[in-house]
Amino acid sequence: MATTSDIEKAAEVLRAGGLVALPTETVYGLGANAEDVAAVARIFQVKGRPPSHPLIVHIGGAHHLDEWVEEVPATARLLAGQFWPGPLTLVLRRGRRVPLEATGGLETVAVRVPDHPVALALLSAFGGGITAPSANRFGSVSPTTADDVRAELGDAVDFVLDGGPCGVGVESTIVDVTGETPSILRPGGVTREDLEAVLGYLIEAPSTSHVRVPGQHPSHYAPSARVVLVEPEKVADEAQLAQEQGHQVGVLLPPSLAGTAVKAHAVVPVPASMVGYARELYGFLRELDRRGCDLIVASLPVEEGLGLAIGNRLRRAAGPRSSQ
Ligand code: AMP
Ligand code: MG
Repeated sequence: MATTSDIEKAAEVLRAGGLVALPTETVYGLGANAEDVAAVARIFQVKGRPPSHPLIVHIGGAHHLDEWVEEVPATARLLAGQFWPGPLTLVLRRGRRVPLEATGGLETVAVRVPDHPVALALLSAFGGGITAPSANRFGSVSPTTADDVRAELGDAVDFVLDGGPCGVGVESTIVDVTGETPSILRPGGVTREDLEAVLGYLIEAPSTSHVRVPGQHPSHYAPSARVVLVEPEKVADEAQLAQEQGHQVGVLLPPSLAGTAVKAHAVVPVPASMVGYARELYGFLRELDRRGCDLIVASLPVEEGLGLAIGNRLRRAAGPRSSQ
């Protein structure tokens, strides 16, 4: 676990233009000084991420928001007041402090305040904004422990702050508040229902076919093993069939099949609670990769509450892959 002197050292690394992996409540981020164009460029290089794909700027508190954006609409103020620190990212009009390199050339910027003591301590010690996408290679599964980060990035990152396993486990919900009504660009740790309760009206859920920003590509958040989604009641049969055909099959066993014997290479029972499932999802996918599975059979949860984010990540993990 990161100590005060680790945090001081990490702040120094950021000031010197280096990259720091930091824990947040969602997933681990690969952080750089948001105002250092060369450091920001290194993030893209290390991740293998196309430069047109925007990053999130992390700030130490809602009171800093005005420093990073052109204007703060009332809706943004309301949502920030309610959900920050927390797994909600707001897309606003870019302030001059944010280099275009961090926004992929967009005139908007994504901002959030992470709800993790180590991230907040680093932001406070550093004093500026930290731009940080998830600390994984482009397209692969986001890391939820410091060990995952080391396995993904090795020496490519200058310093890794260990903050234990991430509590939420899936990325933040991204809400665009630049238009007349807010819209969800990516479902995540804050549920649509929570947003609607605060706003007092219904908002559009993201369409699964809508490709607009990274994290929205058909294949993303993907393990090495191919992911196949079937109806929950068909998971055991599908897994057995594929295993008989010579695959090393990993199974994410839905709660409705708990206790069912499945003929497969590795079986992971999925927690019945959506909070538990979100927290474990990426760890399960990594574990099945580590255990040598080449095919993962899973089913979609009911897509409400956190189930919307889990379903979104599973669909993208199962999406067509351009490189394979
Ligand atoms: P990652 O942490 O790797 O998921 O990357 C940050 C995510 O923030 C990207 O996947 C984008 O979807 C999103 N994002 C960042 N900036 C913007 C923006 N200006 N407009 C829309 N989405 C954004
Ligand atoms: Mg990512």
